[in-house]
Amino acid sequence: MGHEAGDGGWTTEDRGAGVTIGEKVHLATRAWPDADGAVLFAGEAEGRMDLGLHLDQFGPLPQRSAQEVATLIEESGLAGRGGAGFPLAVKLDTARRKGGRPVVIVNLSESEPASRKDATLALLRPHLLLDGASAAARSLGATEVSIRFHAGDVSVRQSLKLALEERADAELDDPIWHLSSGPRRYVAGESSAVASAVAGGLAIPQFRTVPLAVRGPSGRPTIVSNAETMAHVGALMRIGSGGLESTGPASGAGTRLVTLTGGVRAPGTVVEITGEGTFGELLQLHGVHAVPAAVLVGGYAGTWLDGETAWNLTIDEEHLATLGASLGCGLIGVVPVGRCAMVEVAHVATYLAEQSAGQCGPCVGGLPEIARLVTALAEGTARRRHVRQLIRLTAEIEGRGACSHPDAVIAMVRSALSMLSHEVDRHLSGAGCADTAGSRLLPLVTGTRS
Ligand code: SF4
Repeated sequence: MGHEAGDGGWTTEDRGAGVTIGEKVHLATRAWPDADGAVLFAGEAEGRMDLGLHLDQFGPLPQRSAQEVATLIEESGLAGRGGAGFPLAVKLDTARRKGGRPVVIVNLSESEPASRKDATLALLRPHLLLDGASAAARSLGATEVSIRFHAGDVSVRQSLKLALEERADAELDDPIWHLSSGPRRYVAGESSAVASAVAGGLAIPQFRTVPLAVRGPSGRPTIVSNAETMAHVGALMRIGSGGLESTGPASGAGTRLVTLTGGVRAPGTVVEITGEGTFGELLQLHGVHAVPAAVLVGGYAGTWLDGETAWNLTIDEEHLATLGASLGCGLIGVVPVGRCAMVEVAHVATYLAEQSAGQCGPCVGGLPEIARLVTALAEGTARRRHVRQLIRLTAEIEGRGACSHPDAVIAMVRSALSMLSHEVDRHLSGAGCADTAGSRLLPLVTGTRS
């Protein structure tokens, strides 16, 4: 095993639930709708799989040549699970063609405040994601892999360290591993921020003119890949592209991990989607027995859907795309009837505005103003002209940030204005807000720059 490093430049306030290895309380995992289709959480799902259990369940990682690994990944069409859904094979192929010594990074810095899928994988299935990273590195001829996670995730670090010790004891044919931790700030999990931090810079998004896979901050081709993506590679090496394709929703290879939050029975539950079904069918199993007021899909910078639409929608990228939505990082936030969706929109917009890395004018000046206008709307003090001002402002700053953060926030706000237009109209009419709870549903984790 290599070294472990943290990085300076930020301080982080971690309000996340700490989880010690073996503790099951915060790690409810489910396979749905068909447990037999589970790939990542196949077998004994409630506990951590040490190397022995992992090998019993999945078998040893087949020894494959670099070309065989690359071909399998390409045939599978596996898309990244970090949010953007970029095909892994394209990334790897770009780095391979560039040559040199590629840098390989597994991104576990799940900066979505409510998402737990990657941490859950690291806690329960560490060897599956390490197998995938090992195979991906082999396909590039890379001899080292960095694993990046949040400094506050003590249990994730413990689980990974233990897994690396187990692998070293078993003398697996592994790359040299490096553990590296950083802040739980929203934009610190962006791929260029992660690559920068691993290269010794600050964990903030970088201005880029070429893709990381061509040239990263170290000057070498750099692959930053999400932990769930790597776990799927670990499965793919065993079951092949046909096996992976037969699992999960209809569109795209492999199952999907989603984290449920908001008005569900156990916020933080991670579900492995193994086949076809609607959001309504999924949510009913998790304590949502009536059509909710609204559902946020794909993360805090995802897409708002009105409850009725979401309830009847099949959970898969093809169906979501018809509404301009995506599963993104896999977060599904539920706002039940009786709670105000606009309050949650304002809450999330304010949080995301505060999470800017403070480098670009549109982000620094524009996002707080967008958050202020959305908050006024939620509080019932906005008029139609403020909504027009909000729409103008989103158009003015769109495409002007160095990274996608402002555009993602804009897309989230626009989806709320269009998909929840009945809520917007109600707040503008002065009819008041039905929400008397006075608290927020969607959880946050804050970090500040030092
Ligand atoms: S757009 Fe915002 S988050 Fe992205 S680099 Fe610029 S200031 Fe940072």
